Amino acid sequence: LIELDREHLVHPVISWRGHEETGATVLEKAQGVFVTDSAGHESLDAFAGLWCVNVGYGHESIVEVAAEQMRRLPYATGYFHFSSEPAIRLATRLAELAPGDLNHAFFTLGGSDAVDSAVKLVRAYYNFTDQPEKKHFISLKRGYHGSSSVGSGLTALPVFHEGFDLPLPWQHYISSPYPYRHPEGEDPERVIRDSVAELESKVAELGADKVAAFIAEPIQGSGGVIVPPTGWLKAMRDACHRLDILFIADEVITGFGRTGPMFACEGEEITPDIMTLAKGLTAGYSPMGAVLLSEPFYRTIADNAKANAPVGHGFTYSGHPVSAAVGLEVLRLYTEGGILANGQRSAERFSQRLGELAEHPLVGDVRSRGLLAGIELVTDKTEKTKPPQELGIAKHLAKHGYANGVIFRAFADDVIGLAPPLSITLDEVDLMAERLTKTLNDILD
Ligand code: PMP
Repeated sequence: LIELDREHLVHPVISWRGHEETGATVLEKAQGVFVTDSAGHESLDAFAGLWCVNVGYGHESIVEVAAEQMRRLPYATGYFHFSSEPAIRLATRLAELAPGDLNHAFFTLGGSDAVDSAVKLVRAYYNFTDQPEKKHFISLKRGYHGSSSVGSGLTALPVFHEGFDLPLPWQHYISSPYPYRHPEGEDPERVIRDSVAELESKVAELGADKVAAFIAEPIQGSGGVIVPPTGWLKAMRDACHRLDILFIADEVITGFGRTGPMFACEGEEITPDIMTLAKGLTAGYSPMGAVLLSEPFYRTIADNAKANAPVGHGFTYSGHPVSAAVGLEVLRLYTEGGILANGQRSAERFSQRLGELAEHPLVGDVRSRGLLAGIELVTDKTEKTKPPQELGIAKHLAKHGYANGVIFRAFADDVIGLAPPLSITLDEVDLMAERLTKTLNDILD
């Protein structure tokens, strides 16, 4: 399998960076929070796949609803006027669970196309309200919004731009709310104030009549799990409304209990104009994403689309009945199945155990909310010195961690990201922390 993978399967991020020599790790089976590879090596998956398997592996009830739906009706497109019961029920359930008036769902296949869809719907909104010049989007440095051209452009990580003529001319950035490395220190009020001021000046620079929206993750994931101060999200949402621009919350990672509440926006008591979702929506059992639209935003598009032209947007697999059935069962597991509550309980132990790691000589910053954490590595704790990039220390740790039986991700060469399934038990949190500590100590040796 490893030979065939090397020969025929393309993994763009790694295929041309040494992966040729080592080959892929082929996963064979999984149960609970553990995955086993083709060599029989078992690891605790402290990253829930790619921050998505929030309910853990091996849920028979999900298998049953998927099989039943495949037998009954494997396909109905949500592109045109057909629909299906699972898609309708999932949209209805999301409207119940999502904060405020986010009552309308458009289904996609994942997060990148959810972000693309949000961008196109925002353009439709402004075209319909005779403001076609409002087409500039602002996102955060170190933000991640997907791998499509539009999503990669909104993503402010250089590797996604270089050689691809990105960002697009209408994509702009402001600084990340990054307390640990804020130029004026870590004071939360200051971080919030500076973010708001930067958004205001970027909008002034571009012209308020030219800016469509600000898009941000409530906690930046792939940029290095950057946790802004509590209150930042609300301050930015309020600033957007003052500046007459829309606010898109990209909850692809933070949605579905990852940070504690069902949605990070709910925890901060805000309702964005638009919310993008994926990952935990189907917990990795089947691909699906969604864009949730707030009432006035939706109404404006719907009323004008009826009167004018249709919005040219949709996918063959929009509202896929099997994925929708899986999504419904996954949502049931979060609530009635107690997985959200379990995640909240385990998050306390998680935070406690990670707090102990803060003493480690290589650890400069430990930041977490719920079961989402970033550990930033430094070579000097007082000076906050970044490890030399050529060492690739975080990647080295991730590789070593795998040998020690724990899976986590490396970001920006100096941050380790953790996002275990919300189904993780207290004992498994301890096991994860032990294996992580051992990995950090091995590296010091
Ligand atoms: N937005 C965010 C915040 C993400 O983290 C991701 C994926 N990591 C995406 C969008 C893109 O999602 P997908 O990979 O499902 O296309």
